[in-house]
Amino acid sequence: MDLTTLKTSDTFPLTCTRLGTCCHGHRIYISAFELARIAMAMGTTPRLVRDSHLEDGGRRIRFEGPIGQHGPPAHRKPACTFYSSVNGCRVHEHRPLACRLYPLGRHRVEGVIGYYHPTKALPCLSLCPDVTTLPNKTVGEYLQEQHVTEHEIAHDGYAALAYGMINAAVVITKHSGGSLANLATSFAELRILDGAALAQHLTPTWVDALTIPELNAGLPAADFVAQHGQALATRFQAVFLTDPAADALQRAAKTYLLLALYLSVAVGADPDVMAIIINQTTT
Ligand code: SF4
Ligand code: SF4
Repeated sequence: MDLTTLKTSDTFPLTCTRLGTCCHGHRIYISAFELARIAMAMGTTPRLVRDSHLEDGGRRIRFEGPIGQHGPPAHRKPACTFYSSVNGCRVHEHRPLACRLYPLGRHRVEGVIGYYHPTKALPCLSLCPDVTTLPNKTVGEYLQEQHVTEHEIAHDGYAALAYGMINAAVVITKHSGGSLANLATSFAELRILDGAALAQHLTPTWVDALTIPELNAGLPAADFVAQHGQALATRFQAVFLTDPAADALQRAAKTYLLLALYLSVAVGADPDVMAIIINQTTT
């Protein structure tokens, strides 16, 4: 992809036209924190939101609403399931990080966070050409206005959790006398699966533990993710680590790979980095 990395002082036409053009035809993955906050915004349970509004095994927002009326014809695609053509985003206050950032993206390269836009030109310029008539903003001003901090903390916390799971899979494999080369092969096979296939491998109870933890959605992001990580670790120990047999430990290691991969896409944890962690330990 042709990424253009940005400085926070870079200035763009970043005042939204509010036409909702980018609420159509996108793929937005969300974390358990974001799901809990959206459910809170809708006054319902995360389980109901997940089962009615998400796909890909409970990770991605459905885009199956009415076709958009703005932007170039090629971009007139179905709306996000949370979009109302009358009122716009129905979960605006608790919208996911991807929506807060758009038209910017965020990535983590060797642990350093950066912002970018995914093409040579800012996407809004073609999707909503009137954006050029509205005030420019710096990237830093835009991020502040979008209140990204809590959601970024959640993303980074979940990404660290996912990488920690990969490290744990390596430790368990070594401890059980298993083959790290087999772990690497297993990872290579699993990383190409979509969320629905990963969910099938994990079973519904693990998917519930990952997507709809019994936590207060109003918790600060750092506490939410820390408590979620603790709940997953407690469950993991109860399921696997009472049985010291080598084959049970190898199943445990594979489960950590599945959990990490399931988490990765919504929070920018890079499967290539995960593969490096595993492969470095095999050499
Ligand atoms: S494409 Fe840009 S200007 Fe248009 S609705 Fe989306 S964020 Fe706003
Ligand atoms: S969650 Fe809201 S802002 Fe994000 S795509 Fe859906 S309707 Fe648009």
